[in-house]
Amino acid sequence: MTLVSSRAKPQAALTLAPQIMSTEDLHLEGAPFLKEQTAGLYEPAGSKAAGEAAVRSTKQNREITDAIPYWQDWREQARAIKAFTVANLDKLLVEFERNITARGATVLWADSAEEANRHVLEIAREHNVKRVVKGKSMVSEEMELNHTFAAAGIRALETDLGEYLVQLAGQRPTHIVTPALHLSAEDVGRLFAEKLGEPFSAEHGDLTNIARRQLREEFLRADMGTSGVNFAIAETGTLVIVENEGNVGLSTATPPVHVALMGMEKVLPRIDYLPVFLQLLARVGTGQKLTSYTHLIHGATPGRKLYVIILDNGRSKILSDPAARQALRCIRCGMCLNVCPVYRRAGGWAYGWVYPGPIGSIITPHLVGLDKAGALPFASSLCGACSEVCPVKIDIPHQLVHLRHRAVGEPSPMNSATERLTWRLWAWAMSGPKRYRLAMWAVRLGVRLTKLLPWHPGKLGAWTRGRELPKVPGPAFRNWWRRNHSDFEK
Ligand code: SF4
Repeated sequence: MTLVSSRAKPQAALTLAPQIMSTEDLHLEGAPFLKEQTAGLYEPAGSKAAGEAAVRSTKQNREITDAIPYWQDWREQARAIKAFTVANLDKLLVEFERNITARGATVLWADSAEEANRHVLEIAREHNVKRVVKGKSMVSEEMELNHTFAAAGIRALETDLGEYLVQLAGQRPTHIVTPALHLSAEDVGRLFAEKLGEPFSAEHGDLTNIARRQLREEFLRADMGTSGVNFAIAETGTLVIVENEGNVGLSTATPPVHVALMGMEKVLPRIDYLPVFLQLLARVGTGQKLTSYTHLIHGATPGRKLYVIILDNGRSKILSDPAARQALRCIRCGMCLNVCPVYRRAGGWAYGWVYPGPIGSIITPHLVGLDKAGALPFASSLCGACSEVCPVKIDIPHQLVHLRHRAVGEPSPMNSATERLTWRLWAWAMSGPKRYRLAMWAVRLGVRLTKLLPWHPGKLGAWTRGRELPKVPGPAFRNWWRRNHSDFEK
């Protein structure tokens, strides 16, 4: 797994990271994508590093997948299995619960992130938990579980190396598979020197040794381990977790209590459907044939407790919309981020919440509401590169168009009074030649006057901070034609 980018410039990335990722922040005049005016475009340097790493990762993964003659067959199989799963989610989840409960696990359901956090804190209280080690989990990011633990006075440490780095730096992940994609080895060396008092080194071996030494002790002292879930097999009641660093194995097997956090779309009907997903996920996620470790957890081991929290948090809303429900097929491989020209340029933080890139643009509006994130579906050129590589064949561009359609009809940043007025003016200007000429004259004058201003206020300033106003061209074609072809008009 690529944990850090070795080609990034060392300066700035750590200190310029915007802290804009809680759901509260999404109230800022719509999504931060607009509020920050693509913060990644403006800086930080980390976005550039993440973009370069995404390009490298795409090339490497495409070479691997293009060399497999039956790759498209695998994709089609995965699509069909996931489509069946989504259509039968209610029955499969109950079957999964019945089977894993029969082997000593406790399954808890959570409608919202708040309810899931309450479950985790109740478990922690029951088992007198003071220290937690966390395996990588996007659901835990959704829940903002680290904040919950901190508020309850519980020490929680991320143990995935990328997650550990961003936690140490006080940042948020910039990618769903490689959270510290934006950090160079130099950044990490300075981070360890600053936060851990370690001597500076930019050698990958030195850095991983430092992290290993710091984390090993934590595994041994933890009262609870948490993890995400990649797949949950209904037929056998099995949790499947894939990883490369061994930290998930230690987080789930060393402490006496394991809490597995899973989105309700993670279930698969049968265990013999698993191999195709393991093949796809490893290849598109990290360019491997298989991840280094694949854990199959069939229930609680003697003397230990296993809890599984199944989170809805808006997924039912996606399920209830026939045009949107294919988004629930996602296996969080991150490939659509790597190929996306917007993600490569803007970086992960610009999307304002847990899930960046094309998949973020389609699930964030469902999970946090169009009123907060209705601008995200517009953050795309609809080039279609994402759906070409998606291992479960989600038609992301059409999902984006569907959400755009909804965003202009429902309360959202794209349905504001300013937005509506702008389009009314546009319709008025386009409905007759005289109006059109007047509008063009006004636009030319407006651009010229704006260029004369030494600074630009408000939203205009945010817009021009990362862009140049277009050059006003010479005389309009109509005027030129009149001057040079007066005979023609007669
Ligand atoms: S939408 Fe497809 S490509 Fe993107 S993360 Fe999900 S499974 Fe991967």
